[in-house]
Amino acid sequence: MDILADLRNGEETVWLNPDKRSVVPREKINGYGFARMKAAQMRFMRFMPWIAQAFPETAAKKGLIESGLFEITNMRDRLNAEGAGVTGRVLLKDDAHLPIAGSVKARGGIHEVLAIAEKTAQNAGMLWPTENYGKVYSDEFREFYSRYTIQVGSTGNLGISIGRTAARLGFHVIVHMSSDAKEWKKELLRSEGVTVVEYEGDYTEAVASGRRQSEMEENSFFIDDENSEDLFFGYSTAAMRVSVQLRKMNIPVDRDHPLFLYLPCGVGGAPGGITFGFKQLYGDNVHCFFAEPVQTPCLTLGMASGKGADICVQDIGLDGRTIADGLAVGRPSGFVCDMMKPLLSGSFTVFDERLADWQEKLRYLEGMGVELSACAGFRGLYEVENEESRFAEYLQKEGIAEKMEQATHIVWVTGGGLMPDAF
Ligand SMILES: *Cc1c(COP(=O)(O)O)cnc(C)c1O
Repeated sequence: MDILADLRNGEETVWLNPDKRSVVPREKINGYGFARMKAAQMRFMRFMPWIAQAFPETAAKKGLIESGLFEITNMRDRLNAEGAGVTGRVLLKDDAHLPIAGSVKARGGIHEVLAIAEKTAQNAGMLWPTENYGKVYSDEFREFYSRYTIQVGSTGNLGISIGRTAARLGFHVIVHMSSDAKEWKKELLRSEGVTVVEYEGDYTEAVASGRRQSEMEENSFFIDDENSEDLFFGYSTAAMRVSVQLRKMNIPVDRDHPLFLYLPCGVGGAPGGITFGFKQLYGDNVHCFFAEPVQTPCLTLGMASGKGADICVQDIGLDGRTIADGLAVGRPSGFVCDMMKPLLSGSFTVFDERLADWQEKLRYLEGMGVELSACAGFRGLYEVENEESRFAEYLQKEGIAEKMEQATHIVWVTGGGLMPDAF
């Protein structure tokens, strides 16, 4: 297969998912439907009174965890002048500035921690779903949660999302950090009282070790990025928020106005959950593509080979080293590969060298500071309307080649808002 040769050679490439099929809004996928996304959304809402107190930066929005969606005309014009060729509107989803986590990991990680907090307190008879959860912000609850440990393996951002939330609830938190994790992320966590364990090896190893350690301890929860449903459906709630933002901006999404998403991908949970959510709302009118570094195209590899989590990038001779630390994952989530089979439009890979250029342009054209991993989606703007790209075949097959002037493109910018030099 062509695509596997491209991946093996570390070339930039585009993969189209041959198993994508037509889906209608609210259609169940592998047994999972709209109710799961809605339940996650409701859990976030129940906890808003706690979030607003524990993280005062969210108080103005009463504990809502939200980020901006805005048009980036300057950036689009500049990229078009330099070889991209987008005729529709280009928006940026600014998850780099989601509160608490400063990355796309906020919705997934915080949701899973809240699910654990809710379940343990309910089992102990301390909390009812109809109550005001503001009461969780108290010494009584902190003392209760301090009897439990939450552990997670992370390249950095998941650790921040889970670590900060769990620590403020009162949990004992251990984050198992892969060698790719940046120093400032470890410092930030230590300053919140989180225990950081550092590994020489990669993400897969940090996860495996964390899982083992957690199993040996009593009252310890391991948050498993490779298989977690609570993470996945937490991420999916982004779609409900963005649909409101699009409506407020009077941007239609329908047969004549296709919506394209470009989502940076590591293990697959965040872009997978977001894709699930958007397909639940917009069905065939949304087209979701994942962006991966050429050295860690783990999800493309898992899906294109049909092997899911049974194959890793080292198996095809890649070294798995990338400066995009948030995407430095060699083996994809098997759960996400299964969920994406009927939904994902495709994916593309990106050279590391390009990331700093987009990061710099965002700084001076749009006034945003973000991390390198956050920028990978911009590559989609160079491919989508390029006649020579496999995207051309995709647009034909979907019958939308003539509608691209009415299309909306969302480049999902995923992290870096808490970087020491971010703004
Ligand atoms: C984690 C992360 C992603 C991708 O999420 P996965 O769930 O690992 O696929 C993208 N961008 C940034 C900045 C991240 O931290």
